[in-house]
Amino acid sequence: MPDRDHCLALDAADPLREFRDEFVLPDGVVYLVGNSLGAPPRRTSERMRRAVEDEWGRLLVGGWNHAGWYAQPLTLGDRLAPLIGAGPGQVVVGNTTSIAIYQAVSAALRLRPERRVIVSDATNFPTDHYMVQGLARMLGGHEVRDLAEGRFDGAAVVLLSEVDYRTGARQDVPAVTARAHAAGALIVWDLCHSVGALEVDVSAADFAVGCTYKYLNGGPGSPAFLYVNPRHQGAAENALSGWNGHAEPFAFEPEFRPAEGIRRFAVGTPHVLSSAALDAALDVWERVPMDQVRAKSVALTSLFIDLVGDRLDVASPRDPDRRGSQVSLRHPDGYPVMRALIDNGVHGDFRAPDILRFGFAPLYTRYVDVHDAAATLARVLDKELWRDERYSQRLPVT
Ligand SMILES: *Cc1c(COP(=O)(O)O)cnc(C)c1O
Repeated sequence: MPDRDHCLALDAADPLREFRDEFVLPDGVVYLVGNSLGAPPRRTSERMRRAVEDEWGRLLVGGWNHAGWYAQPLTLGDRLAPLIGAGPGQVVVGNTTSIAIYQAVSAALRLRPERRVIVSDATNFPTDHYMVQGLARMLGGHEVRDLAEGRFDGAAVVLLSEVDYRTGARQDVPAVTARAHAAGALIVWDLCHSVGALEVDVSAADFAVGCTYKYLNGGPGSPAFLYVNPRHQGAAENALSGWNGHAEPFAFEPEFRPAEGIRRFAVGTPHVLSSAALDAALDVWERVPMDQVRAKSVALTSLFIDLVGDRLDVASPRDPDRRGSQVSLRHPDGYPVMRALIDNGVHGDFRAPDILRFGFAPLYTRYVDVHDAAATLARVLDKELWRDERYSQRLPVT
């Protein structure tokens, strides 16, 4: 079993060790929730100050033309594209993942008008499943089929997450994509728990969506992204046909005419201030070798499983190829255990009914943090610190 000194030696030899200084983290905290809200990059506050004081404050409405605000959904999309294996003109940034799911699934349905089945995973992050339920109700006559039925036949579209938010289990993207295509369906991949954690290649996907506030550190409420494969860009329609997806938004025409290319998937006014924060985060990400991120992610998650896996039930796959960058543990009193852990300086989160989640963001999580988190968890369990009354009262966000 690796001891603390061994972990310190691993940190000293870590090729990504210098990236930790790019982030602001409070002293005395082991932060293992980068899969829910990534830590702030150090450069973000200066970038946001510039957006408010230098751009908004000096240029006022001129910022749309002279500070690049209007182009942000596309410029940020092009900056993000390499992180998902996409090229320029294939990704648009804006809105939320929920909205991007609606856009992608509805566009896929229009491309398969003779089919009425949407395959979706009932155990996926609920918003994915909720959005397709709402879309099917709106359309009338469409059916949402649970992935658990194991059938893609007759499906117009399959919506799936690469990495399961609860267990960290990872789908075999090329195999599932090929299966969907063999059944004549289109596929939408949700990359919320992949981007910034894994090497992603969307080139075989039809559509992909994801958020930027988890592993990408874009900040709370930062905009989502939508990828549309170039082979669909001419025909795919944006059901949310807002003015920013129009061919000439400032012609103020009465009829919607879609823009050429990915811009037709823009909807309304860009989120300029939160986009500034995302822009700062991408300054960091453009220097990051993703193969090293994945290698470190596998090492960190494997180390944590080695340290805790004998005393708690591991809900995540033990095979690293089948796992994202998180480790989930089961405990019948998971909620108070997590609260006690947080009070003792180790931040993870809880997902009902019994899952303790630990996300390992390789840019700022050290091997010694993994060691300390495991040691603190052992102390919370051995001393039954979680039995304190206070920890049983649920806070609104778990
Ligand atoms: C985090 C997450 C979302 C978030 O959706 P929002 O609309 O940005 O709140 C959606 N899907 C999955 C799989 C997620 O993990």
